[in-house]
Amino acid sequence: MTGRPERREVVIAGGGFAGSILARALHAEGRDVLLVERGRHPRFALGESSTPLANLALERLAVRYGFEDLWDLAAHGRWRRRLPEVGRGLKRGFCFYEHEPGRPFSPWSPGSLGAPAPSPASGPLRPGGGSASSRRLVVAASPDDDAADNQWLRADVDRFLFERARAEGVDCREETAVEVASAPRDSADGPVRLRAGGRAVEAGLLVDATGGSPLAASLGAREASPRLRTSLVYSHFAGVAPFERDEAWPDSPFPERWSASHHLLEEGWMYQLRFDDGSVSAGFLLTGDPAGEPEAVFASLLDRYPSLALQFADSTPLRPVASRSGVAWRRDRAAGRGWLLLPHSYAFADPMFSAGIAWSLLAVERVADLCRSGLPATGDLERYGRMAAAEADHIDRLLVAAYRLMPSMERFTAAAMVYFAAASFDELRQRLLDAPPEGWCWQGFLGAGDGRSRLFEELDERSAAAGESGSLADWIAPAIERWNLIGLLDPRRRNAYPVDLEDMERRAVEVAAGLGLDVAELRRRWPRLRSPSALREVPSAR
Ligand SMILES: Cc1cc2nc3c(=O)[nH]c(=O)nc-3n(C[C@H](O)[C@H](O)[C@H](O)COP(=O)(O)OP(=O)(O)OC[C@H]3O[C@@H](n4cnc5c(N)ncnc54)[C@H](O)[C@@H]3O)c2cc1C
Repeated sequence: MTGRPERREVVIAGGGFAGSILARALHAEGRDVLLVERGRHPRFALGESSTPLANLALERLAVRYGFEDLWDLAAHGRWRRRLPEVGRGLKRGFCFYEHEPGRPFSPWSPGSLGAPAPSPASGPLRPGGGSASSRRLVVAASPDDDAADNQWLRADVDRFLFERARAEGVDCREETAVEVASAPRDSADGPVRLRAGGRAVEAGLLVDATGGSPLAASLGAREASPRLRTSLVYSHFAGVAPFERDEAWPDSPFPERWSASHHLLEEGWMYQLRFDDGSVSAGFLLTGDPAGEPEAVFASLLDRYPSLALQFADSTPLRPVASRSGVAWRRDRAAGRGWLLLPHSYAFADPMFSAGIAWSLLAVERVADLCRSGLPATGDLERYGRMAAAEADHIDRLLVAAYRLMPSMERFTAAAMVYFAAASFDELRQRLLDAPPEGWCWQGFLGAGDGRSRLFEELDERSAAAGESGSLADWIAPAIERWNLIGLLDPRRRNAYPVDLEDMERRAVEVAAGLGLDVAELRRRWPRLRSPSALREVPSAR
């Protein structure tokens, strides 16, 4: 059957959160948008742990387009009060624990000064003396539960956002897969020709928001080799006991169950994300390929680590335990004539520092910018592609280094400090400084493109070279100093960093200098660190 193809200004393939938010933004900009999702909501998705930089992007999109719901999704208290039907979990920060096979977890290395005598119980040990908890690292991301980040129950969040797009007038189709019939060559103009379900569609711009599907290849973005090669075994569980069974661990800035928990293991690492309904998303990222049925692999890994086994002893999977190999991917380009890939369609390295949601939202802001007064010019698409490539390399360096430095907490801390210095610097800047003329979204993610590029490169190089941790330990504090405005590596914190606004106030001179403000101006701006509780309270000049 032949017929006239349907013509659309923009087609977005993939109705995950990124595709749906972008569709709403472009619709609000006056673009004619078709949003196409292969599956049907609600559907399961990974990528659940959000961060302050993601919240900032959500808030900017909320302010720009008047999207109240995005404002509410950007802080735990607002979300819980105003969107209670959308599943989520409180996330107060990041926790990292170094495990040894066959031994219960202890926050102290054996023999470290002040460490208590080993306990026969398989739960964690009580604090003993004044030493840092050398096998545990805690970094808070928020001062309290109300302002905190969230774990996103993606089935709920993505359905909610897709329905919002539909309610706002976006043409949304489910159970419709997009395939590319042809894309214009680099030197030629013309639409991207597609099939969406059984229908022929011509798109002035195709946005691939499919999250790493083969669609990118048919647009001309070839597979490139990712540097990390890992596999994943994962599910959601009920009945998982909190890891911290005794809240008297040294200096906990918050109950550690309400975090993105990272357990560093010989085989790789495990994440645990707890939702407010008590269910837990958990998975092992493994450097080898697991042999056997996923459920058996999951159980055998738990068996190797007594404190994890204890946590999961009474747990039940809420969906079958599943596995994937080849978790990381990369394409050789992120844009071409008439098309672009959102970050998760372009590159993914590893979930270690929960970068995906924030990076995706930055790209949503960029694409919305590029489509403000029509479709993007070729030069704009090229710029988008160059930024994405620099950012993917930047993130990759951090994660490759993190894997090399695992499972030793002492060495791994160098990678973690690079991440937290880079991320917290951007967070403070974006809250306390006025936006640059182009907007924050065009600043490279985590400092890609500024002095932090060299910092990440050096981390990568040093992690490859470092046989002993001494060279990294000597390097890290001066290396991050320029971006470390939150007191990372302060020995008084003993590896557990709260968000301490009073301490920042005491260090106002240093923080102001780091941000290029005078102290009086910084003090006038302190209230910006807390975003208002409702979008209508946002001052218009913000
Ligand atoms: C194991 C793992 C853990 C992660 N953990 C985190 C984390 O904790 N924090 C974080 O920030 N990020 C994390 N990420 C990254 C995060 O998952 C992504 O950044 C995020 O899911 C990207 O969202 P998206 O909407 O772009 O794509 P997706 O969520 O992948 O959605 C893509 C949609 O496209 C649809 N689709 C696919 N093919 C087609 C087609 N041909 N036509 C139409 N529709 C199609 C799919 O059905 C899907 O609904 C993780 C990623 C992985 C792999």
